[in-house]
Order: sequence, then structure tokens, then C-alpha cells
Amino acid sequence: MATKYVYYFGDGKSDGSAKQRELLGGKGANLAEMSNIGLPVPAGFTITTEVCTYYYANNRQYPPELAAQVDEAMAKVEKTMGKKFGDSSDPLLVSCRSGARDSMPGMMDTVLNIGLNDTTVEALAKSSGNERFAWDSYRRFVQMYGDVVLGMKPEKKTDADPFEELLEKKKHAAGVEFDSDLSVSQLKELVAEFKAAIKSRTGSDFPSDPKQQVWGAVGAVFGSWMNDRAMVYRRTYGIPHEWGTAVNVQAMVFGNLGDDCATGVALTRDGALGVPGYCGDYLINAQGEDVVAGIRTPKRIEETLAKEMPKAYEELDSIGKILENHYKDVQDIEFTVQKGKVWMLQTRNAKRTGFAAVRIAVDLVDEGKITEIEALSPKRIPADDLNQLLQPVFDLAGKQAAVKNDQLLTKGINAGPGAAYGQICFHADDAEKKFLANPAVELILVRRETTPEDLRGMKAAKGILTAFGGASSHAALVSRQMGKVCVVGASELNIDYEAATLKVGSKLLKEGDYISLDGFTGEVFAGKVQTKPSEVIQVLIHKTMKPEESPVYQRFAKLMAWADKHRTLGVRTNADEPKQAKEAVSFGAEGIGLCRTEHMFFDHVDEFREMILADDLPTRERALVKLLPFQRGDFAGLFRAMEGRPVTIRLLDPPLHEFLPHDHASQSLLAEKIGIPVEAITRRVSELHESNPMLGHRGCRLGIVMPEITAMQARAIFEAACEVKKEGIDVKPEVMIPLVGYVTEFKNQEKVVREQAEKVFAETGVKVDYLVGTMIEVPRACAVADQIAGSAEFFSFGTNDLTQTTLGMSRDDYGGFINYYKENDIVPNDPFQAIDQSGVGTLMRMGVEKGRSQRSKLKIGICGEHGGEPSSVVFCHEIGLDYVSCSPFRVPIARLAAAQAAVAAQKK
Ligand code: PEP
Ligand code: MG
Repeated sequence: MATKYVYYFGDGKSDGSAKQRELLGGKGANLAEMSNIGLPVPAGFTITTEVCTYYYANNRQYPPELAAQVDEAMAKVEKTMGKKFGDSSDPLLVSCRSGARDSMPGMMDTVLNIGLNDTTVEALAKSSGNERFAWDSYRRFVQMYGDVVLGMKPEKKTDADPFEELLEKKKHAAGVEFDSDLSVSQLKELVAEFKAAIKSRTGSDFPSDPKQQVWGAVGAVFGSWMNDRAMVYRRTYGIPHEWGTAVNVQAMVFGNLGDDCATGVALTRDGALGVPGYCGDYLINAQGEDVVAGIRTPKRIEETLAKEMPKAYEELDSIGKILENHYKDVQDIEFTVQKGKVWMLQTRNAKRTGFAAVRIAVDLVDEGKITEIEALSPKRIPADDLNQLLQPVFDLAGKQAAVKNDQLLTKGINAGPGAAYGQICFHADDAEKKFLANPAVELILVRRETTPEDLRGMKAAKGILTAFGGASSHAALVSRQMGKVCVVGASELNIDYEAATLKVGSKLLKEGDYISLDGFTGEVFAGKVQTKPSEVIQVLIHKTMKPEESPVYQRFAKLMAWADKHRTLGVRTNADEPKQAKEAVSFGAEGIGLCRTEHMFFDHVDEFREMILADDLPTRERALVKLLPFQRGDFAGLFRAMEGRPVTIRLLDPPLHEFLPHDHASQSLLAEKIGIPVEAITRRVSELHESNPMLGHRGCRLGIVMPEITAMQARAIFEAACEVKKEGIDVKPEVMIPLVGYVTEFKNQEKVVREQAEKVFAETGVKVDYLVGTMIEVPRACAVADQIAGSAEFFSFGTNDLTQTTLGMSRDDYGGFINYYKENDIVPNDPFQAIDQSGVGTLMRMGVEKGRSQRSKLKIGICGEHGGEPSSVVFCHEIGLDYVSCSPFRVPIARLAAAQAAVAAQKK
């Protein structure tokens, strides 16, 4: 049987269903599903993603059987709609839209009103009884088709757009301000002028054959899968280029036939904070794209639609409920009201901020619509999005002071929650450039409206502010998804791109001036407004708020409790100070997975330098005696803070020269402080200099050559442990040897550590249980993990070094090319952020298997930066690690990701 490439939908039946996203794309699958459950959907058909794959694999040709299948589906659509495509009395018009498996809002092309030509436009004028509408539709169609299919759109936004120029000229000549004020005869002239422009630019006539028009539009939509902004979007959200898009051809319905018509987009709950009830925009007498493009600021559904169109509102309300119950999630819908009747053009699971994601998931469980396990799904709450709940918000006192200071500029629509301040930047390109030059730059992108071309600049900015557009505008949707603070529709803003200024009333701000956005309230302030910690942080860390005072915290806590119930992977933290350790425990950490002892020396750097500068053993030992009490005190602090939870302490690791001053002035100062000649320091610094210090004398190699350092650190650990145990606090030290590659290295250091332990236990009369284990961070350690596990009592993957040494890619120098690598699809993501599962991950698997082949219960964790990155956490669960360890603020993210991994594994 021939492959089925075309799926019909409409009239309560369809060939497909919501389960077929891969084949039909999200939009197509959901149109089919809505049709199946009896919702009013204009009839149409979906050309599958397989055609897109075929198209790119076959030099932009279609499968031979496609044309006949399209004809057949079109005939069905004609029958359902009771109109004929290209008919000269009552023509059917269609739209042609993209629809990938995961939605990519605004990234690909759309053509509306297909089927219009000089004959059908007259027929449409007659059948609609509205000549102006017919000619305006025709004018829009020629323009859209010219831009999208015939390549009339200028490549750069700054270049003149021939259609816009002709339109402006026409309006000027007619003495009118808006397109809608042009007369029928002026619209007719415009159509002719647009066609002439196409002929002169492309050398071909505008196609008048409706069938040819459809095929042109289909080709353009498939072609747009590979446009630059779609590629950038896919890279940002990890959507594979191979997936391809489907194309949906659907009968047009019109929201611009008069005042009993409207078009709108809405979420069934608010996507910024998750408040229940419709949240959306509509425009009376308008076409769909007008709402999303943000050119006219639309009205709010929840505020006025019930009054303006009570029947349509009621219908929409009931459709919303049906959809939420059916999909068990918040829906993002597009609809058109034509002559009072509601038509559904799209539904999909709504994008939402981290705040909304948590609220909606918890509310849906409370409403009995989903289970706890469903609430934990990474599709509902990407673990990283929890980060938004921990970010600072504006301080009320700071805002009041700003109001007093006359800094409040205006109020728009709160579209992306949080607090952000930064320097005004008017152009996305500039924002991107500034960000690339300095990733720490604080920018607010200020635009009249945003378009998909602004994506890169939006990524670079801390916040986004627009003058037009509503809660469903491009700016709002994209910011929400990126977790950016966003205020839209601040209509009092008068933005002058040329002068690079922003005016509100008499207040004038220039490019580069600071501005602050409150994404919870929509307020916009000039200058910087003081921030304060988020509610979750106030409850958990600062204890300045009680849990019962913060519903945000309560929902967060509920979700975290569900996560803990379902996860099996432990979560520890990387911390070197008691304060950090306590914070991490408040976030749910179950132990310390990495204490980098070198960080503890920063407060006693002179004594530490004295140790490094020592030329001989007696001098070094004298310096070590000075360091011992500091180390002991620091470790005791950590043990106390962790109250019996395991604490993994790593012995000294980095190359020593990192701690020495390199310029002459600082060297002289140090010489004076510790009483040795400056020449001695200069000489020692040059002795310690290494070309590749990361591969040089560091890690256990230090302790092996200078065992007295290991001895001092081990003594400090055990003295502290005994001291704290005496206080009645349980202690569980785990001593970790860094950068081991040979089992002999491990054994050498283990011996020094155990000798010190025995000595201290004898001296103090106190004994503590402890473990001696190792970092696994060079490929050799993975290869001989069975040998190492013969001695080591635990492993902890140091994936920072393991990535560096496996890839032969310096963790300090890869910044120079990694962005190029990502942009050109050489790597799917930054291997120092997300574990390179097929490379580094294979070695990790080997390490786990070999290690446990020798010691079946071997405890294994990870303490590289990857330990707090959700995809890496899932991988660690899959390969059977016991715990991940990450920075304190990432602990909640790791807990959720660990639960998501466990749930996914159970399903498998
Ligand atoms: C690692 O290499 O992953 C690690 C945790 O150690 P460091 O980053 O201190 O080298
Ligand atoms: Mg390391």
C-alpha cells in the first residue's frame, strides 16, 4: 500500500489523533483530536513530517504519490465546507501553516487567504456581501505570498520593504492614517501595484491558479524549517533538525467580516503566575495574525469578551473546560468568531513560567485532574525552571522609594514574572553583540514589539519591555518560555529607534540608561530598583517569612515533597563553608558531596603561600603547623553544620602556582609579610610555572610528592571529627583523593590518611567511622576502576576534569570556540554543562561497572558541575549512581530531576 502522506480532519471525524505528533506535528495532531472530540474546527488536512524529511533528502522534491492525496483531501474539505476551491461563485479559501512536533511559535512561515485571484475576489465580495473585506484579504494575500513564497521580504529588517513602501505611499496619497481607511478602489490599485512589484523583482507573474498557489505555500513552509531563526530556536530548545515540520492546509474562517466577528488567542489559565481562569487577547473585526504580531493592543478576554460577545464567550468557556479535561493540562488556543460562531484553529499545551508551572501542576493535582506522578513530569515542570522561584524580586521598600523619587514610568501587562534591571537596548542585534562581548552585561531589550527575528537578542537580555502587544504576543510567549522578566503592552512608551530614546510623558531615557521591570505587576521604573530575595528564599534561608505567609513557597514545598517521595537518587551539595552547607540543607541537601579544601585557604592565604614557597621539608612543616588549626576549625564548622550527614572532603587539588602572586609589587608585599627575599619568591613562582597546569603537578600528585600536606589535612579532618563527636554531634567524614589514575596513587595516599586517623584516635580517645575514597576524573581511572575499587571505599565522578581529559578540551580555554561549535551543530550542547553521554558517559558507565564488579555495594556519586544539570542528573540515575552533588541553589532542581528520572525509568 502506498504511504499515507495526507491526513484529513474536520466535521467531527479525522484520519489522525493527538497521539500522532511525530507524524502530524503538534498543530495537526491536535486539530485532528479537536475534530474527533466534536469541537468546531474548520476542515483541512495535514501533510506529514515524513514529507518534510523526504523533501530535504530528495533535493526538495515531493513523493510522487503526494499530489493525488492532496487532491483527494481537498475534495473532502470542499464537501465539508460546502464550497469549492477556486470557485467563481462562492470560493473556498485556505491557509497554509507549519506545525512541528514541538511548537516553535512564530519561527516558520504561514500564508493566509490562499485561493484568491482576480475572479475569486469578486466572488468573495459577492458571497460575503463585503467588497472591502474581499479586496483587503486579496491585498494581504498578495503581500504575504510575495514575502513568504516569492522571496520579496528584505533580508535585513533595515532594508526597505517594497510592499510596505507602496502601502505607505498609498495611505499618504489618500490622506489616511490606517490601512483600514483605504477605499475599495485604492485597495484594487494596491493589489495591481503589488503584483507589478513582484513581476519587476522576480521576473514572473503572481500565480493566479489556486492550485499553484497552494503548492507554492506548501513548499515555502517546508523551506522555512531550515531558516536561520528556526535553527536558532531548535538549538536553544534541543529540538533535532531531523524532525521536520508538517504542513496544515485548512479552510479559512474570518474574524474580520464585521463587528460580530473576532479573533483571539488565549490560555485556559494564566501562563505567567498560573492563576486559574482564561487569560488571553482578542480583537474584534480582525485577522488572527493581528493579535500575535502585537501591532494593535488587543482587549483581554477575561475582562470584556463576556460583555461584548456573551454567546461566543459562553461557547469559548465551555470549550476551554472540555479541552483542559481532555488534555489534562492548560491549553493555549487560537480561535476565530465568524458571524457569532466560534471556530477553533489550534490548541496545544501552554508554555508557562516556572511560577505558573508549579502552581498549575499543584492545582491540577488538587482538582483531581492529574496524579502526583503526572505533576512531576518534565513536560509540565522542566526542572531548571524551578530556578525562577529562587531569583530575587523587587523589594517593596525599594519600589516605594522609587515611586517617591518619581522613577515610576508606566505600567504595562505583566507577562514574565521576576525582577530585572539593566541598560536599555533598542535592537536585538546590539543586545546579542554586547552579550557576546561581555556575558555579565545587564540589558533590557526595549521594543515597540518583538518578532521572531529578535530571538537571539531576547536571549541576551535580562528582561524584555514592549510598547504594544498583549499577554499572548510574541514577546510574552517567548519570554515566558525563556524564563525572562517581561512587560508588554506598555502603551504609554514612546520609542524612537532612530534617536535611540524612550519617552513617557515628559520623561526621557536614552539607550544605555538603566531601567527596571517588575514582571509580577507590569510596573516599569527608570533607574535601578532595589531587589530582595524571592519568597522561597525568604522562607527557607533567611527565615524572614513564615511558610504560611507564602502560597508560592507552600506549592514549592508540596512539589518537593512529591519529588522526594519518588526519587531514589540522593542529592548532596558542593560546599566549603558552614553557611553554604546550612543553606544547602535548607534546600534539601542530604550531605556534602564535595568540599574543595583549597577554598578554605583563601582566608589564610599568607600561611598557605608560605607552605607553597617552602624550599625544604622543615620549612614546609613549619608552615603546615600554622595551617593545621585553621583547617581543623573549618572542618569542625562543616561537621557541625551538617549534623551527622556525610561530608566528603577532598584533599588539596589545584596546581600550587595558582595561589602565588605573579606581579612584582604583590611579590614584594608578600616577601615583606612572611620575611623572605622577594627574589626567592620570584624564583619559586617560575619553578612552579607549568605550560599545562591542569595536566601538571596537581591532585594526588601533590600529596604523593609532599605527603606532609596530606598528613596535615587528614589530621585536621580527624581532629575536627573527634572534637565534634565529643560535643555529641554525629560525624561522617569521607576523605577523597583527587585525580587518581593508578591504584598505587590511591594506596599511597590512603596509607597517609589512615595513619593519621589512627594517631588522632589514639591521642583523643575518640573513634569515628570514616571512608577513604577517590575522585574518578581521568579516563585511566575508569579503565582500571576495578583495581581502584579494591582499595577505594567510594567513587565520585569529577566530570569537570573527566570531560576535560576525555575530550582533550581545556576547561579554561574552550570558551573561544564552543559557541561556534554549538551554532554549527558540531556539538549538541556545551559538554561542560551537560554530560557528553556517548563519550564521557561511556567512560562513566565503565567506571561504575568495573568498580562494582570488585565491590558490589560501592557508593558512587558525581560532584562535577553536571551534578545539578537536569539531563545529566537523569543520566546519573540511569547508570546507577547513588547520589549527585551540586551547588546549594541547584539542589531543588536536582531533587526534581532525580524524581523525573525515577518516574521515567519506572515507566520504561
Ligand atoms: C571535577 O573535576 O569535576 C571536580 C569536581 O573537581 P574540580 O572542579 O575542583 O577540578
Ligand atoms: Mg577535578
